[in-house]
Amino acid sequence: MLRRRPGRTRFASCFNILKVNRIKKYVEPIAKAIEELAGRPIDFPEAVLCMTSEDEEYAKGQGAFGMGMYIPNGVVKLNPRLSAWELLLELSHEWLHHAFPGYSEEQIDALNDQVMSMVFGR
Ligand SMILES: [Zn+2]
Repeated sequence: MLRRRPGRTRFASCFNILKVNRIKKYVEPIAKAIEELAGRPIDFPEAVLCMTSEDEEYAKGQGAFGMGMYIPNGVVKLNPRLSAWELLLELSHEWLHHAFPGYSEEQIDALNDQVMSMVFGR
């Protein structure tokens, strides 16, 4: 399910609520930065799901770190063991995959650096 209101993004109950509360306020600004880079409005996935240990194994088999995954067209899963800051970075990374289909990991990482400077000014 996709929606236009990223501020209402729902984190699955497997995520530590304290971590979720720490990053909630940055979710909407990150979505806005991604839309600015894309130059168009984007319907973001409404939920963030938890990676299972099977997902993690699969991701590692694909050469990824197993921190998060994006399944077209619109499923985002993050590793619940990540810190609050890593969750935010990974959410932005997976949303960028959603906004820029077909982009390489290197391109997505470069865009994520831009998103972080736009939101946090660094
Ligand atoms: Zn990626």
